[in-house]
Amino acid sequence: MSSRRDEMLKEMGLTPVWRLRAPTDRAAGAVPEPASSASAKAAPGPEQNAYSSAFSGTVETPFDSGSADAQGTQIIGDDRRGSIMRMDWPALKEAVAQCRDCPLHAKRNKTVFGVGDENADWMFIGEGPGADEDALGDPFVGQAGKLLDNMLAAIELKRGENVYIANVVKCRPPGNRNPEPAEALKCEPFLQRQIALIKPRLIIALGRVAAVNLLARDASVASMRGKVLDYNGTPLIVTYHPAYLLRSLTEKAKAWEDLCFAVKTMQGLVAATAAST
Ligand code: SF4
Repeated sequence: MSSRRDEMLKEMGLTPVWRLRAPTDRAAGAVPEPASSASAKAAPGPEQNAYSSAFSGTVETPFDSGSADAQGTQIIGDDRRGSIMRMDWPALKEAVAQCRDCPLHAKRNKTVFGVGDENADWMFIGEGPGADEDALGDPFVGQAGKLLDNMLAAIELKRGENVYIANVVKCRPPGNRNPEPAEALKCEPFLQRQIALIKPRLIIALGRVAAVNLLARDASVASMRGKVLDYNGTPLIVTYHPAYLLRSLTEKAKAWEDLCFAVKTMQGLVAATAAST
């Protein structure tokens, strides 16, 4: 086990339980497994319980994926959404940098567009910038960002390398409150265009706010995790936000289960693509 991964698992409070098999694909990463195969047979690990079924090629769609778009079109207007959906990367970045379309622009220092590989297979989406992000203009910096980087490292991913990180809203909600529904809705076309340009194989929604806005359904993280859901045709998995994990040590094991599930899901997606070509 690498020292880097040891550090990450220590950070998540999960050492010394896990090790990785050799990676089989850049996109898929490696499949985590129990360190002791003998003990694993006696005491099933997370990937052997509810997470034992790897992605089968079927995406669960527990909501009407057209409702958010229909609602957004009604509130935002066809012209703005249509214009954003035709933008290339430079135009989109400039549009976000200049945007004053919701009240969040008033107290921001910097917009936080997103960062990473613009051809990434993996896209991680949080809710919105915090104070550190607002000051620097990058998503997931500070302690939550450090934990996210460690979570990525545990599945042999790295920020900026086949990974893109963004938020539901691009400007900091004052006092780190959740974005209001109207604010998230106003900002949604920017994220939708980012996703359309990146075309990730898999989206990981970090936390309830991200999941609720992406899926247009009001539900808890606990009820949404462990499933392959759908964002406009792109598979989506829900897990806890790193900032929440920093406050809730007992949930770190569940987040690790979610990462294992995500890796298996990605491997299934890669295999399905290979089989169809
Ligand atoms: Fe514009 Fe989004 Fe910032 Fe609101 S949060 S001002 S919609 S970029």
